[in-house]
Amino acid sequence: MAGNAIEIEGLRKTYRASGRSPGKEALKGVDLTIREGSIFGLLGPNGAGKSTLINILAGLVVKTAGKVTIWGFDQDRNPRQSRAAIGVMPQELNLDPFFPPRAALETQAGLYGVPKAQRRTDEILELIGLTDKAESYARSLSGGMRRRLLLGKALVHSPQILVLDEPTAGVDIELRTMLWQNVRRLNARGMTIILTTHYLEEAEEMCDEIAIINHGQVVAQDTTANLLSRLDAKTLVIEPMEATHPPPVPEGVIVETRAGGVLAFTYRTSVHSAEDILEAVRRAGMHIRDVKTEQADLEDVFLDLTRAG
Ligand code: ADP
Ligand code: MG
Repeated sequence: MAGNAIEIEGLRKTYRASGRSPGKEALKGVDLTIREGSIFGLLGPNGAGKSTLINILAGLVVKTAGKVTIWGFDQDRNPRQSRAAIGVMPQELNLDPFFPPRAALETQAGLYGVPKAQRRTDEILELIGLTDKAESYARSLSGGMRRRLLLGKALVHSPQILVLDEPTAGVDIELRTMLWQNVRRLNARGMTIILTTHYLEEAEEMCDEIAIINHGQVVAQDTTANLLSRLDAKTLVIEPMEATHPPPVPEGVIVETRAGGVLAFTYRTSVHSAEDILEAVRRAGMHIRDVKTEQADLEDVFLDLTRAG
């Protein structure tokens, strides 16, 4: 299976009802292929099933049905090899408060059976910027430091694939920048990165490929560039010299009046051009003070795909 870091076929997860919580079909047959060496973004609203999918990859949640292949290893037939290929930075901060970073990394390496001579504890402490704090109790670390420690723990067994579940949700800009620097550096060294986020600009900037998941189903998977070109809508924003009613426009063009009497004309670039709009505006005798265009962004694609249901 040259070229693919992860292959997922027909993945389903139904959480069983327990106590007061009802059962939940969190994944409804997901197919997903993640190329080796990519930075892959898994996007979706809250409750879409992102963490469920990631926790199945990590071996933390047991799937109901489907086939998961990690680094060429079938998760059911070769659970150990498939687990060894992946490192996961979880969404939740689940650190033992009495473990200093060095001890936490050493213990994690032990759990993965990394022999002492092959441990990279100092290198990882350096990478996550916790060399100074190596012996401080986790409970004395700031939230940002704890997150970095979680990243470090995901790296102890030198996995080929690193998975980050909402790594930047609620973190400050400095930490976010640092995390992305680390991610880029690890990716440049050949590590495949999978991340979930609901910051769309972030996915747009970081990921070469994106899957959008909604209600337990993948509604789109494509390169970021293709996803963005999917919507060929463009908006021409015109500020008239004096307040005026919107002029008549060609069929299919949507006009919206914004604050300050600014008019926004949204059209499909495959059907109309900016010239068509400008002509309609001039014909109506309008004088233009200012004009600019707006391009559809990932948010538009995302809303378009997740609106239904
Ligand atoms: P996301 O990470 O995209 O926000 P999750 O995978 O956490 O979504 O959740 C998907 C759905 O499964 C949600 O409706 C959530 O409430 C439900 N769910 C998640 N974990 C459990 C669980 N342990 N038991 C029951 N339902 C769960
Ligand atoms: Mg989640």
